[in-house]
Amino acid sequence: MGKLSNNTMQQRKTLNPVDIYTVGHSNTEFEKNGINMEPAYHALQKYFGYTTFLHLQEDIIQDILLKKDVFVLMPTGGGKSLCYQLPALLLDGVTIVVSPLIALMKDQVDSLKANGIAAAHINSSLCFDEMQNVKLDLAENKISILYVAPERLMIPDFLSALKRLNVSLVAIDEAHCISEWGHDFRPGYRQLKVLKEHFPKVPLVALTATATSRVQEDITAQLKLSNPKTYKASFNRKNLFYQVKSKDNAYYQLLRYLEGRKNDSGIIYCYSRKSADDLANKLKKEGHRALPYHAGLKSDLRTETQDKFIKDDVEIIVATVAFGMGIDKSNVRFVIHYDLPKNLETYYQETGRAGRDGEESDCIIFFSRSDMGKISYFIEQKGDETEKQNAYKKLRCMVAFCEGGTCRRKILLEYFGEMYDETNCGNCDNCLNPKETTDGTIIAQKIVSCVAQIGERFGVNYIADILYGSRIQKIVHNRHDTIAAHGTGKEYSKKQWQAFTRELVQLGYLKSEGDRYPIIKLTQDGCDILSGTKGVLLTKPEEKVKIIQKDVDGSFDHDLFEILRSLRKKLADGAGMPPYVIFHDSSLIEMATYFPRSQSDFRTIIGVGESKLEKYGELFLEEIAGYCKEHNIKPA
Ligand code: ADP
Ligand code: ZN
Repeated sequence: MGKLSNNTMQQRKTLNPVDIYTVGHSNTEFEKNGINMEPAYHALQKYFGYTTFLHLQEDIIQDILLKKDVFVLMPTGGGKSLCYQLPALLLDGVTIVVSPLIALMKDQVDSLKANGIAAAHINSSLCFDEMQNVKLDLAENKISILYVAPERLMIPDFLSALKRLNVSLVAIDEAHCISEWGHDFRPGYRQLKVLKEHFPKVPLVALTATATSRVQEDITAQLKLSNPKTYKASFNRKNLFYQVKSKDNAYYQLLRYLEGRKNDSGIIYCYSRKSADDLANKLKKEGHRALPYHAGLKSDLRTETQDKFIKDDVEIIVATVAFGMGIDKSNVRFVIHYDLPKNLETYYQETGRAGRDGEESDCIIFFSRSDMGKISYFIEQKGDETEKQNAYKKLRCMVAFCEGGTCRRKILLEYFGEMYDETNCGNCDNCLNPKETTDGTIIAQKIVSCVAQIGERFGVNYIADILYGSRIQKIVHNRHDTIAAHGTGKEYSKKQWQAFTRELVQLGYLKSEGDRYPIIKLTQDGCDILSGTKGVLLTKPEEKVKIIQKDVDGSFDHDLFEILRSLRKKLADGAGMPPYVIFHDSSLIEMATYFPRSQSDFRTIIGVGESKLEKYGELFLEEIAGYCKEHNIKPA
């Protein structure tokens, strides 16, 4: 693999701090809505090592600089943090960031410090002296960004101390925690309702990755944002590959998949604590570094496990839904649902933990209808009838997502109210490998007439049994072994007849009624098939069980990437920080693509700002130079 020319590098990343002021950009280009954005671009490169803003970031930052309240709705990985971190550097005074997880604050602050930004956090993990130091620094206006939990922020003494400082901006991260409709309601967030009264002149920015509109409305109302500008990014996570596999032989399929994923971090979600424990143990025996995580484990152990995952000391976490809220890990390369999620909200949120760094990542569900039973069992425990029906409705949408033959991305986005007009997303199993169809008119006729003959009173399994010619007791008892439809479908398996019947429901040729034990009924369209006035295309039966292995981007040098990854790990361990604080995978991938040789090459790598250039430039350049020499890779 040869080195790309410097020219190419420069094209990709034309601006460095000096260029910004001298080359190609007149001041007017930077001026928008009366705000000169030149300092923002300068800070973007200097501190974060980026040359362009991600979608919406620039507009959001502008509004904040104009001291407006802003509401930011962006999916995970959309780049929310920068929306308040960058203005914090441009505004006088301190930016307060309200964040729910004490455990994450240190990493966030370490990341900022690694970029040369004066950041701090105040929480119970600090000893007395550390706390005093932060307070002193605050009083001397030495801190740009301060992280606190909502409970601490709203302690009256703390609040009045802050009010004496020059607070330039308050950012409320994970703002959905304020809403009881959300998945992570946190009573402490409720107190933030009065924040606006305490800081009437300070702009408030609320940020969340929650896609549901009910939660969104709740947030604006509760925080009393004043006439906020709302920025809603698309919730399409383009870098996530969605795939649903039949749960047959799931363990074997999983092993095959993991074989091709050595060294990659991933989360496997299971339904119960026991299955999480069992699966983690089995994987360990296969030589994978896997650990279980669920609410049944002691809190210390959970923290330790999470820590190992974040630090790349263990690659695979096998978890129940209890896992994830505290996960800010950027390089999660796959999220696998070994059991069916209970609704698309949960699914979107859990898969959202993959690929925060924007790199290609996989989301795979092992789907079996029998998993619905376990979920139904829990739904049945709910007292309230409407709640029950709601939960069933959501479960049916989840199942329709799994069984659907159309673009998964489209189903997902439209569920959350976002139109998606592409005909082929190019990054889900159904778009990459469209299911083949076959003329299903005769199949449909057999099924529809069976439904008619049994008086529209039975479910999918029963129908399949009849067509297949089964003589189970129930069928004999009902004398359905004597009807014309009995035994007319020996050419396919029972499972296949079940699948055909469900597809006909999806297509509207039949309908399904009832929650827990749905029964199949006729529709007008179905009757038209019987009369022969209409033909039907159905999915051709699947023959093999195979996970699609997408070609991962092979255009970088994987060996060098591994070498740089070990260097990153060594440095991170030495500094007691997670590896991604030093560099994201995307930075390492660029290094293993362009083989930077000089400091000026190195600063064009994504994520390399001044501070990282100074701290790590030499070490990484040395490693790259050694590698190039050994492999005879010449500079262009
Ligand atoms: P969110 O909080 O919305 O999940 P993050 O703030 O963690 O997203 O950002 C997601 C990823 O995008 C991070 O790896 C971050 O470093 C990167 N990122 C943010 N802004 C930019 C930018 N302007 N250019 C390139 N990468 C960016
Ligand atoms: Zn698709």
